[in-house]
Amino acid sequence: MEHHPLEGSKMVKDVSLQQLKDMLAEFARVRGWEQYHSPRNLLLALVGEVGELSEIFQWKGEVERGLPNWSPDDKEHLEEELSDVLLYLVQLADVCGLDLGQAALTKILKNARKYPINPT
Ligand SMILES: [Mg+2]
Repeated sequence: MEHHPLEGSKMVKDVSLQQLKDMLAEFARVRGWEQYHSPRNLLLALVGEVGELSEIFQWKGEVERGLPNWSPDDKEHLEEELSDVLLYLVQLADVCGLDLGQAALTKILKNARKYPINPT
């Protein structure tokens, strides 16, 4: 099998949203897929992936943090579906012309003001 240039990406530390955004834009561009990546289409794809993510947990009952009883295959499946959700979310923000990283930081700060820490 041909060695793909992204093959070593497990070594990349501190992956940024910017990096993902750029890689996804290039991925779509070279395949001529930009025409399909309207905000609405990306939103529907995102919702579909959230469904796939939900399926992993469906009927399992409550699951312990760290997933101690899950097989490596199940964990890999979860990684893939979480990634699908993230990647569509990043693309959706991109085609809407929004800076998702900045928006998320702003939202955390807003939440912190809305929910102050109770002095004990
Ligand atoms: Mg998926």
